[in-house]
Amino acid sequence: MLEHPAPSPWSVQTQLVHDGLDRSDFGETTEALYLTSGYVYDSAEQAADRFSGEDEGYIYSRYGNPTVSLFERRLAAIEGTERCAALSSGMAAMYAALASQLRAGDHIVASRALFGSCLQVITNLLPRYGITYTLIDGAELSAWSAAIQPQTRVFFCETPSNPMLELVDIGAVGEIARSAGICFVVDNAFASPAVQRAAPLGADVVTYSATKHIDGQGRCLGGAICCSEAFYQQHLQFYIRHTGPSLSPFNAWTLAKSLETLDIRVTQMARSAANVAAFLTEHPAVEHVSYPGLASHSQHAIARRQMINGGTLVSFQVRGGQNAAFRALNALGLIRISNNLGDSKSMVTHPATTTHRVLSDEQRWSVGITNSLVRLSVGLELDEDLMTDLDQALNCAQGEG
Ligand SMILES: *Cc1c(COP(=O)(O)O)cnc(C)c1O
Repeated sequence: MLEHPAPSPWSVQTQLVHDGLDRSDFGETTEALYLTSGYVYDSAEQAADRFSGEDEGYIYSRYGNPTVSLFERRLAAIEGTERCAALSSGMAAMYAALASQLRAGDHIVASRALFGSCLQVITNLLPRYGITYTLIDGAELSAWSAAIQPQTRVFFCETPSNPMLELVDIGAVGEIARSAGICFVVDNAFASPAVQRAAPLGADVVTYSATKHIDGQGRCLGGAICCSEAFYQQHLQFYIRHTGPSLSPFNAWTLAKSLETLDIRVTQMARSAANVAAFLTEHPAVEHVSYPGLASHSQHAIARRQMINGGTLVSFQVRGGQNAAFRALNALGLIRISNNLGDSKSMVTHPATTTHRVLSDEQRWSVGITNSLVRLSVGLELDEDLMTDLDQALNCAQGEG
């Protein structure tokens, strides 16, 4: 078993194609799919040695599987962490990254602008086990320091945030966390490793929904936690073994193969997103566009520091409120209405009535989610086709007044 990725002399794009491949004796060209739940041993002695840890082989796929390890090694290599643990969904990864290291009496400081289920974990689930929290405006650096209590163990944020695409300065917050001995966990699902490498920037633990850009083709759920070997040994290994949020080998194979094209897919999608964002800025039916790659984004300087490009998501306000926003969504011909994102197919959603529906009006307004807000995930179609579709839909929405 090749658990520790050796530092690679190759570029990330090359690593995505080759890293983690551990060919079997058959010499297959591509990555093999080990669709197995268990393993057999040559002897009773070998079985005993596996269980005692003297023999490093696999025991049971809840603990580890060669195809899952392939995906983990490939993602760790590009994130730049010693270790990666792949789990069954993004939420399994988010929950494990927190629950594995926290206990009753501990305290979390989290940015208020979080993915809905992450917010539920922090504000509803973990408090049942005596873990308290403070929600802050993550863009405000002094708010992180001010919220620290003696029992604060974790800082948690998402950047860019859903759906407003606000940024948290990973380097600066990482500095505050480090000096206070706090573990900084960053949900990097919205960016993907092709847009932002959170670990080298200052995150201790980087979590992914692999369902989004990493699969990127709408096929399977998956999640991952990129971290140090020490974090894996101290917290994750025990938690994962005994609670079982394991990734299926089939999904791991799909995700590992998807990593081969991650960089070219996401780079192209981000290039189109930048063009679409510029187009929307000029459109008379659009009131405000939020895209980290635009110079008009209030945190553009942070985006330039920590992001490789502006990402694949664009949020904008349609003139005329919810009615106009709905008319525009319904008039789209190519871009589909879906809450998914990071896909090769462009998708659009109305956060206030879907993903952020359960928040109170006040909670939504506090993070800027108005009824005219639309979130667009830009895919791999030709950008000019997307602009044509958006233009006719927005004009149609205004026309019907
Ligand atoms: C989708 C998403 C999740 C949850 O991932 P699943 O794979 O759907 O469980 C968590 N955080 C962010 C930012 C997401 O976009």
